[in-house]
Amino acid sequence: MKKILILGGGFGGIRAALDLEKNLKNEAQITLIDKNGYHLFLPALYEVASAYNIKKDPFAVRLKKSICIPYHSIFENKKLDFIQDEVTKIDLNGQKVFADARVFEYDYLLMALGSQTNDFGIPGVKEYAYQFKSIEDALMVNKKLEESIKRSSVSYPAKIFVCGGGFTGVELAAELSCCAKKVARVNRIKHKSHTVTLFEAGPKILPMIPEEKRQHILRRLTRLGVSVMENSPIEEVGPDFIKLKNGQNMDGNIIVWTAGIKANELLKNVAGLSVSASGKVITDEFLQVKDSKNIFAIGDNVEFIDPKTQKPVPALAYVANDQGKTAAKNLINIIRGRPLKRYKPFYSVWVAPAGGKYAIAHLWNGIHITGFWGWVVREIIDLRYMLSILTPGKALSLMWQEVTLFTKND
Ligand SMILES: Cc1cc2nc3c(=O)[nH]c(=O)nc-3n(C[C@H](O)[C@H](O)[C@H](O)COP(=O)(O)OP(=O)(O)OC[C@H]3O[C@@H](n4cnc5c(N)ncnc54)[C@H](O)[C@@H]3O)c2cc1C
Repeated sequence: MKKILILGGGFGGIRAALDLEKNLKNEAQITLIDKNGYHLFLPALYEVASAYNIKKDPFAVRLKKSICIPYHSIFENKKLDFIQDEVTKIDLNGQKVFADARVFEYDYLLMALGSQTNDFGIPGVKEYAYQFKSIEDALMVNKKLEESIKRSSVSYPAKIFVCGGGFTGVELAAELSCCAKKVARVNRIKHKSHTVTLFEAGPKILPMIPEEKRQHILRRLTRLGVSVMENSPIEEVGPDFIKLKNGQNMDGNIIVWTAGIKANELLKNVAGLSVSASGKVITDEFLQVKDSKNIFAIGDNVEFIDPKTQKPVPALAYVANDQGKTAAKNLINIIRGRPLKRYKPFYSVWVAPAGGKYAIAHLWNGIHITGFWGWVVREIIDLRYMLSILTPGKALSLMWQEVTLFTKND
């Protein structure tokens, strides 16, 4: 029986694993390795950071459960081995993967290891800013937010800095502002308790969306009390300050870094792997790793140039999910001796949540849905994803938990 090894159980790895299991359960031995025991639903991480009244649940069990989906729940009754272990080395020549506790051999390899936070070499980012990539980061931000607001005074409001004006930075700044207001209101704080500032190094936040929609989001952020500082590259981050390239020093209580991602560090040391200048894996149009016949790569750890735009496809959950589908299909095709299927990039849909039950959704054919119904669209997209990886009962229960927990600060 052929051995298929999947590295990483994120949006790409899970999709591929489920599709492979459905089609090849009696023809191949499928194994998925992830360093965590759960799939982290990153699109709702900002909701955990800004969820209200976490203290009622001191170990944050409900919050963790709302976005950390255990693999045993996803792969229940599936003929697939899930191993929790951290991959440390990949030996392409020997067809082996080394993890902390074991060594795995494979006939076919699927690399879906995701990305890491990019600090762009700016001093202090790693040490002092919250890297917004794990459940622990989100819970720390949440705790610090409530503490800082309660400790604020007339002369020293809590200063919250979000660095990076992409979708993650925008949704986080907007939602932290809503949560901060709720904490101040419930604790009867009458003075100005906080400020929220969103920094963007480039000339514009969200440069990838149409100008009219960008202006809409800017107005919404202003209404929520978020100050947006565009053209403000950061030079240094300290324990309680940031220094801008223009020499300005600003004191802050909470500094969150959402300014970008880079390739998984592990890929650097894989001998014989073709990587781009940014360190990501290069694949062909079938998502097959360059110069290999039995290795595929998908998701954030890949640099795939869209033939239409000649630019890399963006690092998005549904892009990773689509690539997972194509890579699984191609592994099935190889094993069954059929021709490979080309990956066709699709990434023109976006939803920008902007505080509370409010979002701007850009759908097919230029349709926009804004406000409460935009938020509903976002919830439907999340539910659709949950239904694609869980049984209907589990998916609905998870969505119910999310909605009831995350709307408490609205
Ligand atoms: C805060 C945040 C919010 C986001 N919001 C959205 C959104 O709203 N919509 C959207 O489309 N995209 C969003 N994204 C982007 C999206 O989450 C990524 O594009 C997507 O997760 C990529 O999927 P992936 O499978 O490539 O990697 P991931 O989902 O990151 O999965 C990689 C997996 O590999 C595992 N792993 C890594 N290294 C090792 C190792 N050495 N050994 C074992 N396991 C390892 C990790 O534990 C992880 O489970 C967001 C990203 C972030 C950080």
